[in-house]
Amino acid sequence: MDEEKVRILVIEDEKPIAKILEYDLKKEGYEVRLAHTGADGMREVDAFEPHLILLDWMLPDLSGADILKILAERYDMPVIMLTARGNIDDKVYGLSCGADDYITKPFELREVNIRIRTVLRRFRKAGNPSEAKKKKEELYIKDAVICAQERTVLQCGEPVELTPKEFDLLCWLVRHPRYVFTRDRLLDEIWGYDFAGDTRTVDMHIQRLRKKLHAGETIITVFGVGYKYVPEE
Ligand code: CA
Repeated sequence: MDEEKVRILVIEDEKPIAKILEYDLKKEGYEVRLAHTGADGMREVDAFEPHLILLDWMLPDLSGADILKILAERYDMPVIMLTARGNIDDKVYGLSCGADDYITKPFELREVNIRIRTVLRRFRKAGNPSEAKKKKEELYIKDAVICAQERTVLQCGEPVELTPKEFDLLCWLVRHPRYVFTRDRLLDEIWGYDFAGDTRTVDMHIQRLRKKLHAGETIITVFGVGYKYVPEE
């Protein structure tokens, strides 16, 4: 009996790119199917039950983020996103939506193959599907990893102690890179409308976050407006 082939679904609307990937991945011994829209892709997920998905971030119908959301609710398979943009925000956003890795176009086929192998290996190591299903949302700031579910922050492997509000504020900023938030908006979002304190509360929390995470240059004061988080390029 032949060993079952690893199935890879490529969701990519640029047909020449999809074809190249199909050709190359088949040569590598994978079973491959192509979908050119998000809707087709979702149908193929059901029909083909891929072990891994290569997902273009810019599709005509659904966004990469939409698809990741649907996948996260219903399935359990690793996704590598293909992004045409060199924009680090997209990559961070994609990873925070649950993508396992990303490849920037134009890509080297060798790189694609290595990333596929790495992600598949990591995914298998993660154990049985139900365990992988509980995959955690991770956010990144500088050299720190934030696990939103566990409410932990590790910087260079060392835990960083944050108060609950510091943690919420950090997650909020990191989930919305480059958006400038006024102190009032941050108060509403993190402390709630009923909070009786004033905007200096926000300033104090921002100061402490910067200090604890050594993040002075990524959590930025926008003079006269508020604060924003700018990821490092
Ligand atoms: Ca596209």
